[in-house]
Amino acid sequence: MNSTTRAPLSPECTETQARDAQHHLHPFTDTKALNAKNARVIERAKGIYIWDSEGNRMIDGMAGLWCVNLGYGRPELAEVAAEQMNQLPYYNTFFQTTTHPAAKLAEQIAALTPGDLNHVFFANSGSEAIDTVIRMVRRYWEVVGKPWRKILISRENAYHGSTLGGVSLGGMGGMHAQGTPMLPGIEHIRQPYWYGEAAEGQSEEEFALECAKALEDRILEVGPDNVAAFVGEPIQGAGGVIVPPPGYWKEIQRICKKYDILLVADEVICGFGRTGQWFGSQTLGIEPDLMSMAKGLSSGYQPISAVAVGDRVANALIEDGGEFNHGFTYSGHPVAAAVALENIRILRDEGIIEKVGADTGPYFQQQLRERVGQHPLVGHIEGTGLVAGMALVKSKEPKAFFGKDQDAGTVCRDHCFSNGLVMRACGNRMVLSPPLIISREQIDEMIDLILVCLDKTEASLK
Ligand code: PLP
Repeated sequence: MNSTTRAPLSPECTETQARDAQHHLHPFTDTKALNAKNARVIERAKGIYIWDSEGNRMIDGMAGLWCVNLGYGRPELAEVAAEQMNQLPYYNTFFQTTTHPAAKLAEQIAALTPGDLNHVFFANSGSEAIDTVIRMVRRYWEVVGKPWRKILISRENAYHGSTLGGVSLGGMGGMHAQGTPMLPGIEHIRQPYWYGEAAEGQSEEEFALECAKALEDRILEVGPDNVAAFVGEPIQGAGGVIVPPPGYWKEIQRICKKYDILLVADEVICGFGRTGQWFGSQTLGIEPDLMSMAKGLSSGYQPISAVAVGDRVANALIEDGGEFNHGFTYSGHPVAAAVALENIRILRDEGIIEKVGADTGPYFQQQLRERVGQHPLVGHIEGTGLVAGMALVKSKEPKAFFGKDQDAGTVCRDHCFSNGLVMRACGNRMVLSPPLIISREQIDEMIDLILVCLDKTEASLK
């Protein structure tokens, strides 16, 4: 059945919607608004496609929430999960105990990550990995005798999760406004969003240096000896896929080194192939002291996250830190770790990431720019590998953005949903992050759909 034909809902589906409306509080959702129209029930998925309960097939242009890197329906992952559940469904890693999958996965992450990130701490979500980062870098400075180094610096419009640590470190104004107060000891500097925020005529390189200088200015303002770490996504994901202009990360790296500040790459979205290399840090030339990862680590088949820790921090914590009073019941969960191992094996054995780097990634970026970039609503496209963001604008020349009252992104997202494509709106930026197994033909299919939806959006906004 194609995406525009509506089938009658099954009784099971209407029951699910009723239960959902009565009892389920969804994340990042206005429940009252949702209940007025009922949640869409997603029933099955295969490859890059998902199907809802009305039989509509959609291309999942977001790989779930930037996580199903391998695509849906890989039986190998289900099989290793079942095997591990039968062998050892759970055991913790607190009591001076470990499990085969947890130890193997730590070894593999240490081998895959760049530089000397040789140790791994496990958690369950990206947010918990970020909370671990916050506690670990502060603990590091305590252990090396500078306990006053507490401040973490992040960026406006960064997304680092929803736990108190994650939301405080992130730079999302709407999140900071709710459930206050946020954690103390966190500073935010401007984001490197060239298309949206550079001065008229400013080159990308000039803008990159100006944004990186904001870090140095803030360090000097709060006192270099009070700063523990700078944390950034190699490419801002939930902020709308903002790719920092050339030279930005090099300068950030130089500033961190100059003031002896730890550099943390939040690889929750970029990790595991999204940018065409295993980690976004490799694509963007970052040498982090710590790296948080989640999502693509298991392709979302199991909740698992990790923090890879470089020798400087790990050795200090191990040699002089004693017990690190931090951890989660499910840190290194054996089933999640076994699934992550199998996910990594498939990504590696099938050369999926190499293909993104050499073939489908460049093709996707080129097709987006050539075909979608021409659309009157699309002011600018940025991205690399299989992640991209496009700014929807009122006018391209002269550049004019939609006002706050014009929710072009949501209008576009809704047209996409009704026409067989999941494309997310981050404000008035549309973002794409399809499963890494997408083929050239499927990229063409996705781009055809994007063009249809942009036309419909344009018509709706008139
Ligand atoms: N960090 C980044 C860069 C993310 O994109 C996200 C989620 O999208 C998180 C952290 C939080 O991850 P989780 O939702 O698994 O807690």
